[in-house]
Amino acid sequence: MTETKVSAAKMAVQAEGLHKRFVTSEGEVHAVNDVSFTVEAGDFVALHGPSGCGKSTLLLMTGALLSPDGGRLEIAGEDPYQLKAEGRAAFRAAHVGFVFQQFHLIPYLDVLDNVLIGELAGERGSFDQRARELLEKFNIGHRLHHVPSKLSIGEQQRVALARALLRSPELLLADEPTGNLDPENSAIILQHLADYADDGGAVIMVTHDDRARAAAKSSLHLDAGQLIMASGEKGADQA
Ligand code: ADP
Ligand code: MG
Repeated sequence: MTETKVSAAKMAVQAEGLHKRFVTSEGEVHAVNDVSFTVEAGDFVALHGPSGCGKSTLLLMTGALLSPDGGRLEIAGEDPYQLKAEGRAAFRAAHVGFVFQQFHLIPYLDVLDNVLIGELAGERGSFDQRARELLEKFNIGHRLHHVPSKLSIGEQQRVALARALLRSPELLLADEPTGNLDPENSAIILQHLADYADDGGAVIMVTHDDRARAAAKSSLHLDAGQLIMASGEKGADQA
């Protein structure tokens, strides 16, 4: 039963030897160094490691937001970095949801408009219902017309999550989604991420937080830009 499920699972993302370096006035930093992994539909992976080890850089590359200097990435069987900027933006919109650590909500737009920000005027109508449903599910349905500054941090985090989930992306990436939250709001977000994976999404969450790590089904440990350990269901299966 388990084997059938694994072999039938649709591969969401495959990274092969990803590399990213930054050149600064202080020299060269190999932020991500030869990192390979596979994440499938239904996976909920915690990406963890010390501050500065390359987690955010790896997440951005995985989300088709930052070109690698070496290696290859495939999402749903396609390499987004082979596409030109416009094609890549469309590809991201179709396949990837990203929850930024600092949310990046637009301060002068209300909650509903923030969730719908990525939709063209002509397509908005078809996503309006889903936006409202997500916000309702995340217990902010009564705040649709508040601007972000009128919301608590936990509410802002849930708006950012609703925005990332609007198009039901097969790959959901979240950078420290519980980093600013109290335990109660943390638990709510973690449950939503776990549910999303159970519903067939692939979820990668960067985290410092032990509770968040425990909520994930497997983990990837990054240190000084390199993957040094994989654990949980996936790691055990592959060992
Ligand atoms: P983490 O998210 O694990 O804290 P980051 O991916 O943000 O780590 O950073 C990894 C390393 O790359 C750090 O040494 C950081 O200073 C460096 N770095 C990240 N982004 C840039 C950038 N845009 N320019 C220069 N150096 C960067
Ligand atoms: Mg980071």
